[in-house]
Amino acid sequence: METDPRIVVNALVELAGHEEALAEARSALARESRQRRNQRELAAEYDADADAAGTQMQEAETGFRARAREIHDLEEALGAKRDLLVGLVDRRQHRALSEEITALERRLDRLESEAYELLDEADERSDEVAEAKQGGRRAEDRRTAAAAGAAAAGDRVDALEHESAVEIARLLDLLPPDVARHVKRLQTRGGRAVVRLEGGACGGCFALLPPQQAIAVDKGRLLVRCASCSCYVVHKPWY
Ligand SMILES: [Zn+2]
Repeated sequence: METDPRIVVNALVELAGHEEALAEARSALARESRQRRNQRELAAEYDADADAAGTQMQEAETGFRARAREIHDLEEALGAKRDLLVGLVDRRQHRALSEEITALERRLDRLESEAYELLDEADERSDEVAEAKQGGRRAEDRRTAAAAGAAAAGDRVDALEHESAVEIARLLDLLPPDVARHVKRLQTRGGRAVVRLEGGACGGCFALLPPQQAIAVDKGRLLVRCASCSCYVVHKPWY
């Protein structure tokens, strides 16, 4: 005896609901896992940025300390030469020493401006380090949240798979053997076996159904398989 197509269609509509809930839970899991991975990569990038800026900051600080020592030594030497100049009566020697002092003063000016530049540079790099560390902490917080989200989504997938296994088995029992076999085959291929009618087209592959068929599917009167992707096509929930 042929099973009434409406009974078969009703069972398939219920199956579609289970498949949709599972697909939604699995995509939420994939989304959270992707977010967790992205934020982990972002945190690693911020770490690398902080390290690089930290190294540059240390180099600038080392350069600054070297200039500061040189400035100190140069100031002492200049002081001694200026003292010497005061007591010098020989005009030629006086001029030679004056020129030497002027040259040293120019060098001191140059060293001082270099020292200031290095100090500015160290400040800038220090800001960069702080910024990168802050970015790293934010990424880490988001990674933690995504990890919790992924764990919850994973639990939901497990629970749904467990819950719907019983329901799906019951629904498969209601189906004629050939339909049940076909559904199982499509499901083991990892995809959907039952999809919704979407604007007169198959909701799985978007191939258009013949108009008369689409109307019958919409009313739940006809068991239809998409000619293109071979999924069963059923109407949307009536509520
Ligand atoms: Zn299709």
